[in-house]
Amino acid sequence: MNVDLQLKTGLSMEFDEAVIAIGGALSDPGNVRQIATGLHNQEPLSGFSTWQPSSYTIGHPGIAAFLFRLSWSDDHWLTSAHAHVEAAVAVLPKESQIGISSGPGAVLAALTVAASHPRRDLYPLLRNRLADWTSEHHLSSISVLSGKPVSWSHYDVFSGPTALTRVLISILHALKPDSRARAENAIRACLDYLVQLTQLVDAHGSLVPGWWVDYEQQQTDDDRNSYPHGDLNAGLAHGIAGPLALLCLSKEAGFEVAGQIEAIRSVSDWLHNQRRINVDGAYWPCRVSWEEQLGRVVVEHPLTRDAWCYGTPGVAWSLALAGRALGTPSLTDIALNALREVLLRDPSTWRTDGPSFCHGASGILQICRRAATMFSDQGLESLTFKSAKALLAQQDDDAPFRFRHVTPATHGGWSKANRFDYLDSPGILIGGAGVGAMLHTLTHQTKEGTGDWDSAFLLS
Ligand SMILES: [Zn+2]
Repeated sequence: MNVDLQLKTGLSMEFDEAVIAIGGALSDPGNVRQIATGLHNQEPLSGFSTWQPSSYTIGHPGIAAFLFRLSWSDDHWLTSAHAHVEAAVAVLPKESQIGISSGPGAVLAALTVAASHPRRDLYPLLRNRLADWTSEHHLSSISVLSGKPVSWSHYDVFSGPTALTRVLISILHALKPDSRARAENAIRACLDYLVQLTQLVDAHGSLVPGWWVDYEQQQTDDDRNSYPHGDLNAGLAHGIAGPLALLCLSKEAGFEVAGQIEAIRSVSDWLHNQRRINVDGAYWPCRVSWEEQLGRVVVEHPLTRDAWCYGTPGVAWSLALAGRALGTPSLTDIALNALREVLLRDPSTWRTDGPSFCHGASGILQICRRAATMFSDQGLESLTFKSAKALLAQQDDDAPFRFRHVTPATHGGWSKANRFDYLDSPGILIGGAGVGAMLHTLTHQTKEGTGDWDSAFLLS
């Protein structure tokens, strides 16, 4: 047995123990809801709750997705997965928003994992009904977006159309022919919209990429002050790296609309041009102002992250996919090298908050695991396992969901915070379910073409 195999075999048992403990802690929806809605689980600065029952990211559907994944090898998890589906369906809002933030799209995202169960045909009626509803709603939402000035929410993974489009592709294989045809229409409409978003537009008298968001469409006063002529967002969760990943993954799944390859090329060229190098290696800024885009100012040390949502891991993943879609292995090599450079650093230097998925260590590890598998990179795989072992040390026997979500408790953002709160968050984006799902993915790989919990995060 070689060293890497020994390492993986030994760690698999440790990972499985942690995963089973997290799964058990999340089994009872009533208990989960009671803890999650406790006052101490509010974001300390905004007062926002970290729980929304029908949300894929911070509610029952994401937890169900994690438990369905566990059920692929042990059916006893189906009871608790189903209990979370029931709890989500019971609170589905009458008016759903676009995407998977809440409502039918969120439950459908969980059912993509159920539809990949190797021995059972789960929810055949519900998944077709939800797919029909979301396909129709998706089409009309995209047509509304097409006529409006671009805002970050138009291509944000959760509140925009990208995650739901990936979910529809992932569940296509399990839909009836008429439902499949409706879903395919919605998928193509989204791809057409995203291709259009990459065309150059006029911004205050200069041509810039079409995902530029002007002053009026900025979300907060801080953003309007920071970007008086608008900006271009580079991240995976809220920026153009998300649509790039979707355009590439869709092409691999057989969906290609007019202009898609050119769009992949122009976005990946732009992202490649944003790459910065420091002593640690390559990194990417979170956002690029109109002034920077036109070369009127130079920002020496732009704000960055080492996370799924923002910074190197998410952007590098999208560029690795783009290299494959374009037949440009040198681009994929640059991206994989950037991922290795993150893992080679001491985790204490990662620009992340705690162990959870979105902007924590689990997001880095999930991306590196997927990239190592897709590109057969054994060096990256070994580094990922070693970093995951370090993550296990953050387990807390007193935490109800085994891992706590770390969030800044002082103003100035994560980079300036000098005090943090530790929340008991159960969900897949910033809670225990996300850490558990990542640990399970490390040692239980997905078959090609199988819908998985991270399809909604554009990682499979
Ligand atoms: Zn985040």
